[in-house]
Amino acid sequence: MPNNRYSRQLILPQLGKEGQQRLRSSKVLLVGAGGTGGAIACLLVRAGIGKLTLLDRDVVEPSNLHRQQLFGEKDIGAPKAYLAPEVLRSMNSEVEVVGLAEDFSPANAERLVAGSDIVMDGTDNLETRFIINDACVKLGRPWIYVGAIGTYGMRAFIRPDRGACLRCFIPSAPGAGTVPTCATAGVLNTVPAIMGALAASEAMKYLAGAPVSEKLLVLDAWTEEYHSISLSRRKDCPCCGKRRFEFLEAPVQTKVQVLCGHDSVQITPPRPAALDLQRLAAAFSESGDVEVHGLWLVLVAGQHRITIFKNGRALISGTNDEKTARALYARYVGN
Ligand SMILES: [Zn+2]
Repeated sequence: MPNNRYSRQLILPQLGKEGQQRLRSSKVLLVGAGGTGGAIACLLVRAGIGKLTLLDRDVVEPSNLHRQQLFGEKDIGAPKAYLAPEVLRSMNSEVEVVGLAEDFSPANAERLVAGSDIVMDGTDNLETRFIINDACVKLGRPWIYVGAIGTYGMRAFIRPDRGACLRCFIPSAPGAGTVPTCATAGVLNTVPAIMGALAASEAMKYLAGAPVSEKLLVLDAWTEEYHSISLSRRKDCPCCGKRRFEFLEAPVQTKVQVLCGHDSVQITPPRPAALDLQRLAAAFSESGDVEVHGLWLVLVAGQHRITIFKNGRALISGTNDEKTARALYARYVGN
């Protein structure tokens, strides 16, 4: 196609040819490809970054469709990390897009962050944000924190070389069940779109070499009230002050996580496996309905829908109980 694709960006004095070239040579890591992550991905890919690596551990659910613009009804049940790159490449085939159906975890965090110029937060939980924060502070990489809940959105540009990190203003994770989630508080579908766009703007400014906002932005999309809050680094911050990276140092073991609001449990083995999905599918034929889709398979057994990835990770839907999920995993995949 004739390449005037970026003509409306090139004439912006804030970007120009040099800014566009800088975008073109940039590598972005996006953790989470849901509501905010999908908005970030679309905008950065259309703007012509060089490479986008996106991680997402979930499959598309009906309750995602009101806000997650990369996916439609036909995608229900399929892993977002495999669907999103295809959609994004259709928007701009000049960008290299890599999708990983993995958890962002201590096992892969430093390697992924080290290969990126900036990390974008498209997650829905604080635990993963603390892992991003640890890896970025340890390696001196910038990242953009983004949150969307109810009618509120938050955004902060974390620059470990200059200012506060996430744990300077959120020192530790509140107890389970004490903070609202999208499942308990809902989310207005414009909020992830707005916050994703505001985060993508800051990323483009940074990648193009322009100054960026150093404040925490909090806005209410319903009332249009917004606050811009100055953040300062705390000397006693366990992460950037004392350089203790607690979230990267978690022991390597099988991880069982109840995915809040999804009625599902994720099981991640300590080390990636290389499962023979065809063989597993044949073994499951008596247990329920099985479908193999290349890199993952789906087994529907009674009330449970079990998605098993080639690397051994599994999503068990239809339960919020760790013991039940562990037992199903042991039965179908092994220990
Ligand atoms: Zn800090």
